[in-house]
Amino acid sequence: MSFAELGLSDELLRAIEDSGYTEPTPIQQKAIPSVLMGRDMLGCAQTGTGKTASFTLPMIDILAQSRAKARMPRAIILEPTRELAAQVADNFDRYGKHHKLAKALLIGGISLAPQEQQIERGADVLIATPGRFLDCYERGLLLLHDVKILVIDEADRMLDMGFIPDVERIVRALPKSRQTLLFSATILPEIRRLADKFLNDPKEISVSAPTTTAETIEQFLIGVEERDKDAALMQVIESEDIQSAIIFCNRKKQVDALAHLLKRKGYNAGPIHGDLPQSRRMETLESLRKGELLFLVASDVAARGLDIPDVSHVFNYGVPGNPEDYIHRIGRTGRAGRKGHAFMLVSPEEGESLGDIQRMIGQDIPWKALEGRKKIDIDLDAKPKRGRRSGASGKGGPRKDAPRKAAPKKEGARAPSPKAHGRRPERKETSGKKETSEQKEAPKQKEAPKQKDAGDKTPKADGPDWQIPAFLAEPPPAASTPPRRPRRKT
Ligand code: AMP
Repeated sequence: MSFAELGLSDELLRAIEDSGYTEPTPIQQKAIPSVLMGRDMLGCAQTGTGKTASFTLPMIDILAQSRAKARMPRAIILEPTRELAAQVADNFDRYGKHHKLAKALLIGGISLAPQEQQIERGADVLIATPGRFLDCYERGLLLLHDVKILVIDEADRMLDMGFIPDVERIVRALPKSRQTLLFSATILPEIRRLADKFLNDPKEISVSAPTTTAETIEQFLIGVEERDKDAALMQVIESEDIQSAIIFCNRKKQVDALAHLLKRKGYNAGPIHGDLPQSRRMETLESLRKGELLFLVASDVAARGLDIPDVSHVFNYGVPGNPEDYIHRIGRTGRAGRKGHAFMLVSPEEGESLGDIQRMIGQDIPWKALEGRKKIDIDLDAKPKRGRRSGASGKGGPRKDAPRKAAPKKEGARAPSPKAHGRRPERKETSGKKETSEQKEAPKQKEAPKQKDAGDKTPKADGPDWQIPAFLAEPPPAASTPPRRPRRKT
């Protein structure tokens, strides 16, 4: 099936072609015609499936039929994290480049004033995190009676983060006659309840995450004792012709240590993980996008779901605990038909996790010997040693299919007063943050997360150490089954 068969406008087809997409992904094939017909939708899909375009593309054509008015958005996209919201906004610009539509990106952590101006000028679509959206609404900046389309994206992450009460308040403030699209990686009972409440005879679609790796990626394993991983990694790096690379670690401490080591060795490297302030994370990603960074050292927590630009190499410092993470990680390279290279350092304790990955992708990844290093035997049935921290093997860590329950409402969430239209002080909002096995290694974070997050929460847009990344500062044009996570805080 081609994009042209989906009923999209010529302007969109041109923008799609400019993006280099040749055919719609399964979720796009299933979703786009129904969304164009105005149907509600319950989509079971993860990031990486082309989900964003599946709702953004038809939304653009629907919105193109009329014009934005000041403070009266016609579509709302709710995202659990600032990064995802910024990314969706980016996609909206890319796909809508031949249309005269305006968007406003409403996310916390940056000054409200430019966002207020965007709303005032007239935004067809608001792409928002729930906290900042409610902030704007309660300040009387938004009139919602013209909203025709609502997208609740990544509903299961909203649930994990305790955002569902905020989402429910937003939905209650919207007109009843609207089109609602709800996406979630898994349809948990709580998500089903939301769907029953807010969707009207939805079309249900489900697409699974890919379980194979792209043929354009050349994959290698390197057997190495845990204590020799730094040296082995440096050896591989020096022997490869790297344009830019992402090094994935299972733990935040490893991310920091490795970024530090690479910098000491004279490489341009930056860390990204869930404990770093939001502003730094976005800055680091921006540097990678601009080609200023050679190495991004990342944890899954910060990298999952982000559209990280094409890179020549992916290194796995440790074997990911969830096999799907391996596909997700190495999928950052070898994109759009280009050649990619993926290396994974495997210690004897990680044999079992490696076995899981190979079973899932249905292939044996070849081993590569490093010059001057003795061969290490890895037993694919080897259990991780007792007492060892989870993360590298992941067998002891939380699984994606672990049962979850709704997170309690986050601290600092607003008192219920949806009708309040008086001006209020600016609401603080957290960045999106997930826990993976990496957080298990640092129990003290559980006791003192507030202090850690304080910087993350409210970086000042005009603070001395932070520039708003260009793609966030731009004015609008004219006119993943995740592991159990703890309660979030604001
Ligand atoms: P998403 O699941 O929306 O996060 O999209 C994952 C990645 O797939 C993004 O990098 C998109 O730019 C890309 N993408 C979306 N649709 C297509 C398509 N039809 N063909 C190729 N890549 C796509």
